[in-house]
Amino acid sequence: MSVPFLDLGTATAELRGEIDAAVTRAVGSGWYVGGPECAAFEEAFAAHCGAAHAVGLANGLDALHLALRAMEVGEGDEVIVASNGYIATLLAVSMAGAVPVLVEPDPATHNLDPARVEAAITPRTKVILPTHLYGQPADLDPLLAIARKHGLRLLEDAAQAHGAAYKGRRVGGHGDVVAWSFYPSKNLGALGDAGAVTTNDPALAERIRTLGNYGSHKRYVNEVRGVNSRLDPIQAAVLGVKLAHLEEWNARRARTAARYCEGLAGCDLVLPHVPDWADPAWHLFVVRSANRDALQAALADKGVQTIIHYPIPPHLQGAYADLGIARGRLPIAEQLADEVLSLPIGPHLSDSDVDTVIAAVRDAAGGR
Ligand SMILES: *Cc1c(COP(=O)(O)O)cnc(C)c1O
Repeated sequence: MSVPFLDLGTATAELRGEIDAAVTRAVGSGWYVGGPECAAFEEAFAAHCGAAHAVGLANGLDALHLALRAMEVGEGDEVIVASNGYIATLLAVSMAGAVPVLVEPDPATHNLDPARVEAAITPRTKVILPTHLYGQPADLDPLLAIARKHGLRLLEDAAQAHGAAYKGRRVGGHGDVVAWSFYPSKNLGALGDAGAVTTNDPALAERIRTLGNYGSHKRYVNEVRGVNSRLDPIQAAVLGVKLAHLEEWNARRARTAARYCEGLAGCDLVLPHVPDWADPAWHLFVVRSANRDALQAALADKGVQTIIHYPIPPHLQGAYADLGIARGRLPIAEQLADEVLSLPIGPHLSDSDVDTVIAAVRDAAGGR
């Protein structure tokens, strides 16, 4: 491929000196689970998000799962999620013993549609769980208002939204808990698996930390049945280096997004819609085409690598066959799955790569 979807090797190479120094420091610290590197990153990440607390965990799935358990979600409970998201959001709900209730997104933003949420609330509903999909912030104020009105919690899946802002304030301190993944390809990515939660609630922060440490907050005293999900201090050291560059790397993504929007205007495509209150992290640049598969093949022929996020909506996955939701019942999620295509947008995409993508899409997609 002449334009790869995402170039992680170049990203690491840009910061290689700083990363090597941080890893050397962590290795020399004598702390290999927990310790000062983890504490320093948690403090820096909480400050970045505008949240009072951050708790480092092993990955994003655990962050979602342990947040739900800390909110006392369990067997028989329901959690409202968008019908078009990534499977991990649903898996976390299932891991907690609860049932994911799928609500259609706003097709313009691809995010949970607040106007549809109230109709899905039942006496078993415990949590509303929006994802900031593709790095576009979900419409949090109406979701928070609905949650407060019905006595529910708001948990956000921010695995794709590091640095995104809602109404001028960064994601991370709005809902009761915000769950993060630092999987390598995320906007803030480790050199392996890592995750975290942020929250303003000290009791929830403490409960999540305890759940991730075998249910123990005092050595060998186990109050609840927890799991082993702890942030690796070597990854924490790497994340601390990368956090300092996040804003600049997101600005590069935003510049590419602006160039795509300008260069692809008039094409036979639906371009991303950004509400005026949204400041996206541009984790992905997702277009929609009625001829998506042909467009993807034509781009591949021209050396442009694209990915589909996501080709099968959760209710049509084998893993969720037991929800018993037939094809046709969630038409927005199904149509989005048929039409979405993600163009390359990493922070290491050169201007000439962006020009190549624009020319290839204009050529393949048609329009004026
Ligand atoms: C990546 C991702 C996750 C899971 O994170 P892991 O660190 O891979 O467990 C959850 N939700 C969304 C939306 C993601 O993009």
